[in-house]
Amino acid sequence: MVLWIGVDDTDSLQGMCTTFLATEIVRDLTEDFDLIGYPRLVRLNPNIPWKTRGNGAVCMRFGEGVGRPFVVGSIAGRPIQAYSRGRTISEQAAVADRIAPLVERWSRFDDSTTNPGFAVLRGQPTPTLYWRAVRGVVSKRSAKASARGLGVVRSYKNGRGLIGALAAIAWRPRDRTYEILTYRALEAWSTERRIAPESVIRMDHDFPSTFNNYDYANDRAVIAPRSPCPILFGIRGDDPAVLPAAMSIIDGERPERWLIFETNQGTDDHVMSRASPRPHLTVRLEGDVSSLPRVLAGGHVVVRVGPIDITAYEPSKQFRSVVRNLLPGDRVIAMGAVRASPATLNLEKLCVVSAVSVVRKVSNPLCPACGKRTKSLGRSAGFRCPRCRTLVPRDAARWEAVERPLAPGWYEPPVGSRRHLSMPIKRMLRSSHTALPVHVGLAAQAREALLRDLRGTSPMPLGTGLLNSEARDPETGL
Ligand code: ATP
Repeated sequence: MVLWIGVDDTDSLQGMCTTFLATEIVRDLTEDFDLIGYPRLVRLNPNIPWKTRGNGAVCMRFGEGVGRPFVVGSIAGRPIQAYSRGRTISEQAAVADRIAPLVERWSRFDDSTTNPGFAVLRGQPTPTLYWRAVRGVVSKRSAKASARGLGVVRSYKNGRGLIGALAAIAWRPRDRTYEILTYRALEAWSTERRIAPESVIRMDHDFPSTFNNYDYANDRAVIAPRSPCPILFGIRGDDPAVLPAAMSIIDGERPERWLIFETNQGTDDHVMSRASPRPHLTVRLEGDVSSLPRVLAGGHVVVRVGPIDITAYEPSKQFRSVVRNLLPGDRVIAMGAVRASPATLNLEKLCVVSAVSVVRKVSNPLCPACGKRTKSLGRSAGFRCPRCRTLVPRDAARWEAVERPLAPGWYEPPVGSRRHLSMPIKRMLRSSHTALPVHVGLAAQAREALLRDLRGTSPMPLGTGLLNSEARDPETGL
C-alpha cells in the first residue's frame, strides 16, 4: 500500500494547469519519498458545465520504492524516477501539510470558478466513484463519503475540486494511454510557443504508437495548447517507453521540465453503451437514419437517428461531410454527448454499419405489344403505353446503381477537433475494438456527383433501398 494523492480545480482559463502543480508536488515529495508508478492524468465527464477546459484531475502515488526504478521525467535538470511497486509510508498528515502550500501557491484563486481540492489517502475510493465521475454528475457529498476513513481531504472556496481529486484516485485503468507533457520556463508563460510543424510530422511518422499529433486535414500541429498555460506540448501514445525519444524530435522552444502521465485519454471510458440519451451523458446508439441531412446556419449538419437528432458541429470540419452524405435507411452507430438544448447528440464518432443502395431510373420500358416507349403512372405505380394503353409493371424499367460516397466503416473528426477521452479510430484498430474499415474523409467529387443525382428528390420509405428520381418529376423519363 502507498499514499494516494489527488488534486483538482486549481487552474483557470487565464493560466496555470493542474498537471504543472503535479510536477511541483513530484519535485518536492521526491526529495524524501519515492514516486510509485506513473503520475496519472485522469479526464472526467467532458460535459460538466463548470469545467475549465478538458476536465482533467491528477493523481500521484508515493511510498518506499521496491525493485528497479525507471525514469518518468525531468524537472529543472533532475531526473525523476518511479518504482512499479512500493511499501507504505505513514506520514499522511505531514504529506498533506507539504502539499497545501504548493496548492495555495499555484492555484488561481482570483478566478471565481477555481475551487481547489486535494486528498492524501491510504487507499483508493470505490471504482464506482471514477465511473460516475467520468460518465455522470457526482455531488461533493457523495465523493467525500467514498473517501471516509481513508485519510486527509482538504478543500478551498466551495471545494468542488475534491470531486475530481477523489475520482482521479479512484481510477483503476481498464484501458490506458500515456502522455508526455513538457513545460515552459516560467518567464516564457503567456508568450507565443515556437514549435516547428515539420518536426511534429516527422515525429508522427517515426512513432506510430503515438496519436493525435498532427491534423493533416487542416495542416496544423495539435500537440501544443493555444491557452496561456505552462504546457509547451504533449505527445500521447500507447507506449510510454518511446515518448522521451518522440519528445526529443520536436524542434523549437526547449522545455524546462517534462513528466510522463498515465491517462484515460483516448479510451472512450466516458461512453455509455446502454443508456438512453440524457443531457450530460455521452452515449453510443445504433439506429436507422430517418431523415435527409439538414445544414443549419453556422455550418452544423443534423440528421435524425432513432429517437434523437445527431449533429456534426462546425468545429468538426471535414467530418460533417459524412453526416451530409447519410440517407434515410442507412444504419449507423453514433457516439456523442447529449445536449439538452437543442436536444441533440453532439457527434464524436460515427460508424456506417450499412448504407442503403441507391438506384436511378435510366429509361421507361418499351411497350411489349407495340414497341412504343411507355409513360409512367406515378411514383410507385407502373407504366402505360400511350398508343395501345398496355400496362407494364414498374420493374420493367431500366435502372442503374448510383455509387454512394459513404462506405461502411468508422469515421471521426480530424485530429484537432477530438475530445480528450474519445478513442481515436487508430487505437480502435490496434486494440481490435472494431472489425469495420476506417475512413477519415470523403472524396468531394463523389459527393458532388451523388448530390447532383439526388438534388430535389425525397427519400423512399425505410428499407426499400430505392431512391426514385420520379419523386421530383413523375414524367421524367428519357
Ligand atoms: P483543466 O483541464 O485545464 O485542468 P478542468 O477542465 O479540469 O481544467 P477544473 O478547473 O478542474 O476544469 O473544473 C472541473 C470541476 O468539476 C472540478 O471542480 C471537478 O472536481 C468537478 N468535476 C469533475 N467531474 C465532475 C463530475 N462528474 N461531477 C461533478 N463535478 C465534477
